[in-house]
Amino acid sequence: MESIVEKRSFQVDSKGYYGSFGGAFIPEMLYPNVEELRENYLQIISDPSFQKEYSDLLRDYVGRPTPLYRANRLSEKYKTNIFLKREDLCHTGAHKVNNTIGQILMAQRLGKKRIVAETGAGQHGVATATVCALMDLECVVYMGELDIERQAPNVARMKMLGAEVRPATCGSRTLKDATNEAMRHWINNPVDTHYIIGSVVGPHPYPDMVARFQSIISEEIRWQLKQHTGSETPDYVLACVGGGSNAAGAFYHFLSEENVRLVAIEAAGMGVNSGHSAATTALGKPGVLHGSRTILMQTEDGQVTEPFSISAGLDYPGIGPQHAYLYDSGRGTFMSATDEEAVQAAFELTRYEGIIPALESAHALAVLGRLGASENETVVVNLSGRGDKDMGTFMKYID
Ligand SMILES: *Cc1c(COP(=O)(O)O)cnc(C)c1O
Repeated sequence: MESIVEKRSFQVDSKGYYGSFGGAFIPEMLYPNVEELRENYLQIISDPSFQKEYSDLLRDYVGRPTPLYRANRLSEKYKTNIFLKREDLCHTGAHKVNNTIGQILMAQRLGKKRIVAETGAGQHGVATATVCALMDLECVVYMGELDIERQAPNVARMKMLGAEVRPATCGSRTLKDATNEAMRHWINNPVDTHYIIGSVVGPHPYPDMVARFQSIISEEIRWQLKQHTGSETPDYVLACVGGGSNAAGAFYHFLSEENVRLVAIEAAGMGVNSGHSAATTALGKPGVLHGSRTILMQTEDGQVTEPFSISAGLDYPGIGPQHAYLYDSGRGTFMSATDEEAVQAAFELTRYEGIIPALESAHALAVLGRLGASENETVVVNLSGRGDKDMGTFMKYID
């Protein structure tokens, strides 16, 4: 018998909310920009000429579909069936380009001449500078002064690609300060500039728009898994969460199938209770960060707490509003992995499968032993990026 209970929805509602999370908490000055985007984004995305250009570029430029690879030796070790979604094979080395390709096409259709973006480790900055070179648009990337020092190779890449890298000199001089600066820049250049945000965060419609651009990941997983196993749905989907864009993309087409367990892995840093952690749901409370109501790490009086993780891509004090809702509603399972566990998992994957993962992605691999998946179950791990950029860190563990 057909259930009379309506399926729960985990997608954004017409007002920009996921449950009580989301919305657009923005200064008056930003309103015209965000409103212009909100009014146009769905229509632009559904336009056949947009869809064709987007999917052609994903195929010929990004290299999609990325493979879904059955990791045989890892499966044997954990006594379950492990598949890796190989986002590490995307052009520029991670899933982030799926979003920047979508947003650059969006910016063109909105008639924008210039792009502004924020970046932490520089991965999103590189993905943004890449598509700006491709489309011949001016590109300004804000990056914390401290991160500029720590991530010299990515700064060089952005400059080679023609972007202007501007230091954010306020606060802790890291990602959240760069985000503040990028938003300020956008306020001051509302007519000709589009802001390419790098994750499923920010004011509505950004979280939904970015999730749609990343949803290609789970769209491909479904047909690829069917080819491998005969079934489109796995028992588990695992993804690391910084802001949450690779996880949002990997979860997207499974959200309404509640027998598929969606597992988000946060960075515990030196330990959840060590004072040096980025495990947002374990430590955070509801509040407003970068334009949306979500869960974030904050002090008693609401000041944002400095996050910590060995992996720069997970070093963010909040998560996207959809993830806050997945956590709050129980639809998502939230776990965490420490720096140490992530490094170990990165070496394990490298020695078992010959794949060097990004430190971020290694956090997702680190919970395989604690998942409780059985022999006849299927686990898909979203391998969000490759480890080339992390060799400096890995080298410290090789004697
Ligand atoms: C940026 C990044 C992440 C974290 O960002 P999300 O928006 O949470 O996906 C994860 N993995 C890699 C490889 C990254 O570059």
